[in-house]
Amino acid sequence: MSVLTAEGLSLNLGGARILDGVDLVLRPGEVTAVVGPNGAGKSTLLACLAGLLRPDSGQARLGSEAVLAMPARRRAQQIGFLPQAPEIAWAVDVETLVGLGRTPFTGFGGASDVDKAAVARAMAAAELEPLAGRIVTTLSGGERGRVLLARALAGEPAWLLADEPMAGLDPAHLIDAAELFRALAHEQGKGVVLTLHDLTLAMRVAERVVVLSKGAVVADGPPLEAVTPDILARVYGVDARLSQGEGGTMVELVGRRPKG
Ligand code: ADP
Ligand code: MG
Repeated sequence: MSVLTAEGLSLNLGGARILDGVDLVLRPGEVTAVVGPNGAGKSTLLACLAGLLRPDSGQARLGSEAVLAMPARRRAQQIGFLPQAPEIAWAVDVETLVGLGRTPFTGFGGASDVDKAAVARAMAAAELEPLAGRIVTTLSGGERGRVLLARALAGEPAWLLADEPMAGLDPAHLIDAAELFRALAHEQGKGVVLTLHDLTLAMRVAERVVVLSKGAVVADGPPLEAVTPDILARVYGVDARLSQGEGGTMVELVGRRPKG
C-alpha cells in the first residue's frame, strides 16, 4: 500500500490562509490523529488529502500519483472519506445507505455477492445489524455516525480519512470505534487518519499525532512527543497536565491561560 503525502499544501479561502504549506507523509498501517483548535484547518486538510478540495499550491499524492489526477472511481476505491457532522437527507434504511459505499465497485448488474459480503462486514464492524432496517433519518447523531462509518468501510478503501468520527459516540461505542480504527490499521494494514478534539482519545487511538494550528503543522510525532503541556499552551492557550492512567495517557485540562 502507498503512502499518502501532503506536499506544501496551501489554500486560501475568502482572503484568509487556511492551509499554510502543510507537508506530511502518512503511512499505511498506522492511525494518525490530527488535532488542533477550531478553525485550524483540520477539515480542510482532510478534504485536500481526499481529493475533494483543490489547493492553491502544493498537492496531495497517493504513492507517486497526484490524488486530484486519479479517476474518480479509482480514487473512491482507494480513499474513503467520512465528512464531519454529515447530513443524511434520504429516508432510506440503514442497510441501503451502507450499500451505497459499494458504488465505486458496482457494475451494471447491480450488487454482486462480493459487494453484499463487504456490506455485511461493514455493518458488523459498526455493530449495525440491530439497526439494519431502521430509516436513517430517525437515528440518533451517534447512530448516524456509525452508519456513515460503515458506508465508508463498505468500499474497503486502502485509506480511511475520517473527520471527527468519534463525536457524539457514547463511551462504549467510543471504545469500539477506537478499537475498530486500530484494527483497520494494524490488522488490515490500512491507513487511518482521524481528526478529533479529545486529546486523551487522540493519544489512545493513534500512534502518531499531528497538531495543526492556523493551517500549519506545529507538532508531528508519537503522542507523547507531539502532545506536551508546552505545545498545548502554545496552540490552545490552556494549561494542561499529562498523567498515566490505566487506559493510557490522560490529558487533564487545568485551566485557561491568560489571553494575550
Ligand atoms: P477545523 O476543521 O480545524 O475546525 P476548517 O478546516 O473547517 O477547520 O476551517 C479552517 C478555517 O477556514 C476556518 O477559519 C473556517 O472558518 C475557514 N473556512 C472554511 N471554509 C471556508 C470558506 N468557504 N470561505 C472562507 N473561509 C472558510
Ligand atoms: Mg473541522
